[in-house]
Amino acid sequence: MTLIHHAWTDEELLGRSREPIAAPVALLRTNFVLLDRDGTLNRLRPGYVSDPDDLDVLPGAVDVVRQLNECGAKVVVVTNQRGIATGALSEHQLVAVHRRLVAEFAAGGAHFDGFHVCPHEEGTCDCRKPLPGLIVQALSRAKWAEASRTVMVGDSDRDRGAARAAGVPFLGLDDPKVGLVQKVQKLLALCTHE
Ligand SMILES: [Mg+2]
Ligand SMILES: [Zn+2]
Repeated sequence: MTLIHHAWTDEELLGRSREPIAAPVALLRTNFVLLDRDGTLNRLRPGYVSDPDDLDVLPGAVDVVRQLNECGAKVVVVTNQRGIATGALSEHQLVAVHRRLVAEFAAGGAHFDGFHVCPHEEGTCDCRKPLPGLIVQALSRAKWAEASRTVMVGDSDRDRGAARAAGVPFLGLDDPKVGLVQKVQKLLALCTHE
């Protein structure tokens, strides 16, 4: 297992980094996994997750990401956080929540390779899912990535719409109370070696 102790900057956790994402070493059928956050990695709650103590990572999600890491796929979080625009959520709070997220995953041997966040109000940008901007941003950091070897995973129609608009395959989760783990077999099958 590769342990990566990455020192995340606030900018990275806010989804503002445009640094290249290193190419996967392994040759996989699918090598770029884009994960929605709320209802996929952590439990949905009314309003926004604004306090790290309110971040409730769904059972099994850490293991799924760790297995994707071990396969050699690159794993990026793509999340709408409109609360930044409305003032319901501060950037400081979002950074704190994402620090808790990466720490909880790291404790289970799992890591993320990047974050992309839409902080905008509806109708004011090209990145709020179901628009494709977050996926386009992620792909632009991974010059090696191919749409056909990428998968977007999420629990909502917004995720599905973003994937369709970006031209990448979509893996839909049927139950946000269960999240990522419900499709672990399909995901791992996608990310097998060729
Ligand atoms: Mg969601
Ligand atoms: Zn946006």
